[in-house]
Amino acid sequence: MAKRRLDLAKVLIVLEVQTSFTVAGLSFFPVEFEGSPWDIGFKRGRLFRDILASIREMYLPQYVGEKMLEHKRLTERTVKDMENLFPELVEELKGVAAGSGLDEEDIFMINAWWENPVWPSRFPPNTGCSAVAFTESSLGPIMGQTLDIGRNPYWVMVHVKPRGGYSFFGTLRADMLGGARCINEKGLSMGGGTVSVKDRGDGLPRPVVFRALMERCATVDEAIEFLREMKVSVKVGTNLLLLDASGNAAVVEKSPTKMAVRWQEDDGICATNHFLTEEMKHLNAGSAEMIERYSQPRIERLKLFLREGDREKPITALKRVLRSHGLGGLCYHGDEWPWPTTTQLANILLSREREMYVSLPMGPPCMGHFIRYRPFSP
Ligand SMILES: [Zn+2]
Repeated sequence: MAKRRLDLAKVLIVLEVQTSFTVAGLSFFPVEFEGSPWDIGFKRGRLFRDILASIREMYLPQYVGEKMLEHKRLTERTVKDMENLFPELVEELKGVAAGSGLDEEDIFMINAWWENPVWPSRFPPNTGCSAVAFTESSLGPIMGQTLDIGRNPYWVMVHVKPRGGYSFFGTLRADMLGGARCINEKGLSMGGGTVSVKDRGDGLPRPVVFRALMERCATVDEAIEFLREMKVSVKVGTNLLLLDASGNAAVVEKSPTKMAVRWQEDDGICATNHFLTEEMKHLNAGSAEMIERYSQPRIERLKLFLREGDREKPITALKRVLRSHGLGGLCYHGDEWPWPTTTQLANILLSREREMYVSLPMGPPCMGHFIRYRPFSP
């Protein structure tokens, strides 16, 4: 009898271990990369090799005919510009190719994908994402954001510790050198959304610029100066929300040829998928209906949140708004227009505390749980 009880206990332990393993399999864990640029790239390529192979198979065959020629030209130009400005990042991409066993050319083409995207039918085009920040709360400056990219399976969590630069932590697609959902060791946090724009340029892919920004800038002011010098993107605009540990915050409205800065109001700031400043408004390419029914209602909701949101309990307040639905809601489920996108995940970033919460498992945050990550804690 005693032995049977023991066996039962063993079975329960096994079940418990299996259950927690299953849950862990659905969650992000930070993958750390450090060393020389090539070392970082090689490890990244090695660990993400299956995901990178799948990204290549899913996206690159979509480039055909003239689009393929256009993408090859863009890739060549991008690599040249990166060699001039950020040669260490070219070295890292070469490391990714070596570590993953994929061709360098394919890795370079995927790196340029962000400025000339093609969409497999499984992942239809999405223009989305929202971000909002309190410049002060009981937990210091804090930002919440949604990533509306449509249940994409390639998202990972990285903690990159580059030699000679600030380390940073974030969630991004496995191929991205950097992304807009990151925080660095100085507490500089980024969020934002893409913007359809009318102008065309010859800038660098956004993930490349965001990566360099995280490594080099400690404050919002430094980041703005950095972005003023930088040509970003070819045909996609960005609203980049920046928040630092001192509570300074701004949205940089950046198109391929122009840039304006929108500063905080009401002790906070927010951004969705169209430009708001007088200088940039005329570059919005989204239809009036897209702006009126999709992007602007979220701005209205977030402005209300900035006036009325509970700064004593900012995590609870942000979770609520990130999980909100209906016109102006932030949590999307792939429904019919005007809710065409699906929210992949939501992040909450704490600039003073150097922490990030991420909603998991991937999918609309109303169906997930927020997990707290403390990458910079000893
Ligand atoms: Zn939802």
